[in-house]
Amino acid sequence: MEDCIFCKIANKEIPASIVFEDDRVVAFNDINPQAPIHILIIPREHVASLNNVSEEMKPILSHILLKARQIAKEKELEESGYRIVLNTGRDSGQEVLHIHFHLLGGRRMSWPPG
Ligand code: AMP
Ligand code: ZN
Repeated sequence: MEDCIFCKIANKEIPASIVFEDDRVVAFNDINPQAPIHILIIPREHVASLNNVSEEMKPILSHILLKARQIAKEKELEESGYRIVLNTGRDSGQEVLHIHFHLLGGRRMSWPPG
Protein backbone atom coordinates (compact mmCIF):
# COMPACT_ATOMS: atom_id res chain seq x y z
CA MET A 1 0.00 0.00 0.00
CA GLU A 2 1.63 3.20 -1.22
CA ASP A 3 0.43 5.65 1.39
CA CYS A 4 0.42 3.36 4.41
CA ILE A 5 2.72 4.62 7.15
CA PHE A 6 3.20 1.16 8.67
CA CYS A 7 4.05 -0.39 5.29
CA LYS A 8 6.66 2.35 4.96
CA ILE A 9 8.08 1.49 8.39
CA ALA A 10 8.17 -2.19 7.46
CA ASN A 11 9.97 -1.33 4.21
CA LYS A 12 12.40 1.06 6.01
CA GLU A 13 11.15 3.98 3.93
CA ILE A 14 10.55 5.96 7.11
CA PRO A 15 12.45 5.50 10.36
CA ALA A 16 11.17 3.72 13.43
CA SER A 17 12.69 2.31 16.57
CA ILE A 18 12.47 -1.34 15.60
CA VAL A 19 12.72 -3.83 18.46
CA PHE A 20 12.21 -7.02 16.44
CA GLU A 21 11.70 -8.09 12.84
CA ASP A 22 11.61 -11.24 10.80
CA ASP A 23 10.31 -12.18 7.37
CA ARG A 24 6.69 -11.89 8.49
CA VAL A 25 6.42 -9.25 11.23
CA VAL A 26 7.95 -6.00 12.48
CA ALA A 27 7.77 -4.68 16.06
CA PHE A 28 8.64 -1.06 16.86
CA ASN A 29 8.24 1.47 19.64
CA ASP A 30 5.07 3.56 19.49
CA ILE A 31 5.92 7.18 18.68
CA ASN A 32 3.45 8.41 21.32
CA PRO A 33 3.81 5.86 24.14
CA GLN A 34 0.91 5.38 26.54
CA ALA A 35 2.96 3.28 28.98
CA PRO A 36 6.66 2.84 29.82
CA ILE A 37 6.67 -0.03 27.31
CA HIS A 38 4.49 0.57 24.25
CA ILE A 39 5.39 -1.49 21.22
CA LEU A 40 3.41 -2.04 18.02
CA ILE A 41 3.60 -5.39 16.25
CA ILE A 42 2.49 -5.56 12.62
CA PRO A 43 2.47 -8.10 9.81
CA ARG A 44 4.60 -7.04 6.84
CA GLU A 45 1.61 -7.83 4.65
CA HIS A 46 -0.79 -4.92 4.44
CA VAL A 47 -4.19 -5.66 5.95
CA ALA A 48 -6.34 -2.76 7.13
CA SER A 49 -7.86 -4.32 10.24
CA LEU A 50 -9.06 -7.53 11.83
CA ASN A 51 -12.18 -7.13 9.69
CA ASN A 52 -10.04 -7.73 6.61
CA VAL A 53 -8.07 -10.72 7.84
CA SER A 54 -8.57 -13.87 5.77
CA GLU A 55 -8.53 -17.49 6.89
CA GLU A 56 -5.09 -17.83 5.28
CA MET A 57 -3.74 -15.30 7.76
CA LYS A 58 -4.47 -17.45 10.83
CA PRO A 59 -0.78 -18.43 11.22
CA ILE A 60 0.42 -14.81 11.20
CA LEU A 61 -2.03 -13.88 13.95
CA SER A 62 -0.75 -16.59 16.27
CA HIS A 63 2.83 -15.71 15.28
CA ILE A 64 2.23 -12.08 16.31
CA LEU A 65 0.64 -13.11 19.60
CA LEU A 66 3.49 -15.41 20.56
CA LYS A 67 6.02 -12.80 19.44
CA ALA A 68 4.28 -10.27 21.69
CA ARG A 69 4.67 -12.71 24.56
CA GLN A 70 8.37 -13.13 23.77
CA ILE A 71 8.97 -9.38 23.60
CA ALA A 72 7.06 -8.92 26.87
CA LYS A 73 9.36 -11.48 28.48
CA GLU A 74 12.46 -9.77 27.08
CA LYS A 75 11.18 -6.45 28.49
CA GLU A 76 10.75 -8.17 31.87
CA LEU A 77 6.98 -7.78 31.86
CA GLU A 78 6.19 -11.44 32.34
CA GLU A 79 5.75 -11.22 36.11
CA SER A 80 4.22 -7.74 36.37
CA GLY A 81 1.88 -8.25 33.44
CA TYR A 82 1.06 -6.49 30.21
CA ARG A 83 -1.81 -5.73 27.90
CA ILE A 84 -2.22 -6.50 24.21
CA VAL A 85 -4.70 -4.28 22.36
CA LEU A 86 -6.10 -4.71 18.87
CA ASN A 87 -8.19 -1.69 17.96
CA THR A 88 -10.60 -2.37 15.12
CA GLY A 89 -12.70 0.28 13.44
CA ARG A 90 -14.01 3.71 14.31
CA ASP A 91 -15.45 3.12 17.77
CA SER A 92 -12.23 1.49 18.98
CA GLY A 93 -10.22 4.56 18.03
CA GLN A 94 -8.19 2.78 15.33
CA GLU A 95 -6.28 5.49 13.49
CA VAL A 96 -3.78 3.61 11.35
CA LEU A 97 -5.41 1.31 8.82
CA HIS A 98 -2.71 -1.36 8.85
CA ILE A 99 -3.50 -3.98 11.47
CA HIS A 100 -1.30 -3.58 14.55
CA PHE A 101 -1.20 -5.11 18.00
CA HIS A 102 -0.28 -2.77 20.86
CA LEU A 103 1.89 -4.30 23.59
CA LEU A 104 1.64 -2.13 26.70
CA GLY A 105 3.32 -2.60 30.05
CA GLY A 106 5.36 -1.12 32.86
CA ARG A 107 2.52 0.50 34.75
CA ARG A 108 -0.74 -0.49 36.41
CA MET A 109 -3.65 -0.22 33.97
CA SER A 110 -7.28 0.44 34.59
CA TRP A 111 -10.30 -1.54 33.50
CA PRO A 112 -12.60 -1.02 31.69
CA PRO A 113 -10.58 0.79 29.01
CA GLY A 114 -11.75 4.28 28.09
P1 AMP B 1 -4.45 2.97 16.71
O1 AMP B 1 -5.15 4.11 17.38
O2 AMP B 1 -4.76 1.63 17.32
O3 AMP B 1 -4.63 2.98 15.21
O4 AMP B 1 -2.91 3.18 17.02
C1 AMP B 1 -2.03 3.80 16.14
C2 AMP B 1 -0.75 3.98 16.91
O5 AMP B 1 0.29 4.22 16.00
C3 AMP B 1 -0.77 5.14 17.91
O6 AMP B 1 -0.48 4.65 19.20
C4 AMP B 1 0.32 6.08 17.37
O7 AMP B 1 1.04 6.71 18.41
C5 AMP B 1 1.19 5.11 16.59
N1 AMP B 1 1.96 5.70 15.50
C6 AMP B 1 1.51 6.50 14.52
N2 AMP B 1 2.51 6.84 13.68
C7 AMP B 1 3.61 6.20 14.15
C8 AMP B 1 4.97 6.14 13.72
N3 AMP B 1 5.41 6.80 12.63
N4 AMP B 1 5.85 5.41 14.44
C9 AMP B 1 5.44 4.75 15.55
N5 AMP B 1 4.16 4.76 15.99
C10 AMP B 1 3.26 5.48 15.31
ZN1 ZN C 1 0.20 -1.03 5.34
